[in-house]
Amino acid sequence: MTVGLWQTADTEHATPTQAAVVVIGAGIIGSYLALRLREQHDDVLVLEARHVAGGASGRNGGLLLSGIAHNYAAACTHYGRELTRELWRTTIRNREAMIAWATRLGTPVRRCGSYVLASSEREADELRASVALMAEDGFAAEWHSTDPLGRGFVAGVSNAGDGVIQPALLTAALLKASGAALRETAEVYALLSGEDGVLVRARGGDVLAQRVVLATNAWTPLLLPEFAATVVSARGQLLATAPAPRVLERACYCDEGFEYFQQLPDGRFVLGGFRNLAFAEEATYADHTTSGIQSALDAFLARYFPELADIPVERRWSGTMGFTSDGLPLVGRLKRDERIAYAIGFNGHGLGLGMVVADELLYELAGTGSGSIFTARRLLPEVVA
Ligand SMILES: Cc1cc2nc3c(=O)[nH]c(=O)nc-3n(C[C@H](O)[C@H](O)[C@H](O)COP(=O)(O)OP(=O)(O)OC[C@H]3O[C@@H](n4cnc5c(N)ncnc54)[C@H](O)[C@@H]3O)c2cc1C
Repeated sequence: MTVGLWQTADTEHATPTQAAVVVIGAGIIGSYLALRLREQHDDVLVLEARHVAGGASGRNGGLLLSGIAHNYAAACTHYGRELTRELWRTTIRNREAMIAWATRLGTPVRRCGSYVLASSEREADELRASVALMAEDGFAAEWHSTDPLGRGFVAGVSNAGDGVIQPALLTAALLKASGAALRETAEVYALLSGEDGVLVRARGGDVLAQRVVLATNAWTPLLLPEFAATVVSARGQLLATAPAPRVLERACYCDEGFEYFQQLPDGRFVLGGFRNLAFAEEATYADHTTSGIQSALDAFLARYFPELADIPVERRWSGTMGFTSDGLPLVGRLKRDERIAYAIGFNGHGLGLGMVVADELLYELAGTGSGSIFTARRLLPEVVA
């Protein structure tokens, strides 16, 4: 993000305001971090370029799933069995924390269960192997050798503990409950390290902070170029129909996570995905939908839920995810200035991972962590403290 010279003419020479902690980004991660940081500091300021939940946190599928994008068997191949086991435990802890916070703050949450659905025989084999490995590792999941929805998928796995949340309302409620100060339309365009603090240069006025925490997910490399090769943006597109008769109870994830859907209590059917049809075109920060991907979403709906054919599509939208080179989030502090910390790179699973990852950053800042599996040191040893 950049800010034009003319846009800061009124504040450029003003004395910066002061804050113990500046959190950059008012998505679900920044809002939760603000809440937790307020337990230790009176003086927490959140700076948001757009508005609360204006990024991925207000534009996602709302699915609160255990696990990550890879199924368990694929994750074991990719990360090893021990790390996979730890990742699944982390997502279950996170799911329970999200449900507890949504319940406590009175925002919509439903533990409706999930289905992971296989779109091919190969995926079905992997899901079957996943369920066996998960059982050995003590994770509950039920194998369905045929499509549990009866709609033409090959097989599926159900998980009764998963659910859905209203992510934008939860984000706003977390931020409100934090009591932190908030400035919207306040793009941060530079972080300047000085002896008396980090000067956070932002539209609307600079702030001198003793600590800065970035919760800027996909946009992080625009502020911290050292992340340019490690965090990339990926657009995801969705649609929502008008209210329709009930066809679905659970949150669904299929085709290796490239498609996902749920039906809201009011009957609206929310479907997202098909980024894999145009990886290069979707590697963007641009906020618009494309006819290619939206047509694929329409065709998916017509194929698997033909009874919704006459229900109009009410909304089409997109959002920006931050992907890391190894598929896991990054937490840590910068070696060049340890006062600058970050929790970023949620790989399209920030609802599934976000609170626990944010907690791990807070343990690291407090010096009470025993070494997070999400430490950025694994990918960027030269820039991470
Ligand atoms: C289409 C789509 C579908 C998804 N579906 C799911 C799902 O079903 N389940 C799931 O678990 N996850 C899903 N995700 C992922 C999930 O939404 C994200 O991982 C999560 O919202 C990340 O939260 P965040 O707070 O880190 O980032 P964001 O919500 O993106 O917030 C970052 C904020 O930082 C602000 N910002 C950036 N740069 C600056 C700057 N320089 N100055 C000030 N402010 C700045 C942005 O404006 C933004 O508001 C989906 C994401 C997308 C896009």
